Amino acid sequence: MKINHHNLPEHALGGQRRLTSFHFGQPGMGKKIYLQASLHADELPGMLVLHYLKRLLCQAERRGEIHSEIILVPVANPLGLAQVLLNGGVGRFDLVSGGNFNRDFPDLAQLVRDSLQVCTFHDASDYRQQVRSAMTAALSMMPSRSEVAALRQQLLLLACDADLVLDLHCDDRAILHMYADPAYCQQAEVLARFMDIGAVLLSQDSGGGSFDEACGLPWHRLAASHSDWSQFEPGCMAVTLELRGQQDVSHALASNDAERLYHYLQYYGALAGDPPAVPERETLMLPFAAGEILRASASGVLLLLRQPGDWVEANEIVAEVIDPLTDTVTAVCAQAGGLIYACRSAPFVTLGAEIAKIAGKTPFEGGGGLAA
Ligand SMILES: [Zn+2]
Repeated sequence: MKINHHNLPEHALGGQRRLTSFHFGQPGMGKKIYLQASLHADELPGMLVLHYLKRLLCQAERRGEIHSEIILVPVANPLGLAQVLLNGGVGRFDLVSGGNFNRDFPDLAQLVRDSLQVCTFHDASDYRQQVRSAMTAALSMMPSRSEVAALRQQLLLLACDADLVLDLHCDDRAILHMYADPAYCQQAEVLARFMDIGAVLLSQDSGGGSFDEACGLPWHRLAASHSDWSQFEPGCMAVTLELRGQQDVSHALASNDAERLYHYLQYYGALAGDPPAVPERETLMLPFAAGEILRASASGVLLLLRQPGDWVEANEIVAEVIDPLTDTVTAVCAQAGGLIYACRSAPFVTLGAEIAKIAGKTPFEGGGGLAA
């Protein structure tokens, strides 16, 4: 295992932070796999999972069983991790700019499109190689306008030429679920079955420039912009794994998730050993545009009548908001219905606050919304 440190530009006098990546295998050896955790720095389950996975990969390395280049970044956001307010972590938004840490990643298609116009590609492999080189070169030349911009740039530099990118997040309180690109529907279903995930939300461009889409979407954008390039397969499957809720940090869950990831990497061909069979499991592939986010139409004490993992019908009451001053009880109903996959953990809501997220089977007007 090789350890690399990537210095970030100093945000304020007297303090420079760095990002640390752990490397297994060699560049150019098999497919490249990139895993990171806690880009939203208050989402810690993935950090512990990568701690366990690192241990498994070190053992595999000693046995000479690593057949791919694998990079782990267990602490993807040292900036967010250091943001503490009144003893609580503020890891989702950058307190300097107000921006969500998992938004506004650079658009690689835009950065490389012009330089690729003059290239000729002999075959799909040559195309993939040249696109990846152009992406790396363009990112390397970008000026770092702030510490958070440099963080996004560095994370993308480590991941943009990978075949497989796994970004580990979690929700407030949630069941295991995953966001994936519909172009990789079948492969995502296999990964979901290895991870024991029952629901995969499919979306190619949910807007906002999230990390997974910053890795996967440029390939589609390039293919759409040039008729000669549309014949080539996209080069990166990037998914966001949502490892339950923020409080779901335990040895048992994390070591089990790490073993499942390890088995998937064996199946993927990155690690030696007989490829394990794809686990039997029903996994629903649901269009993200069929989802809905329930919000509070009044402030008050929140009582959830249904929980993550439950299916609800259209117009079914999911929660009640109680105002003890007027004794008003406001019902919160599902619009189209579906599987509740995440909900709020705090039992109080202000007007407009998110209460629950529901994944349905059929897209509807007004469905979807920004994820992760
Ligand atoms: Zn997140």
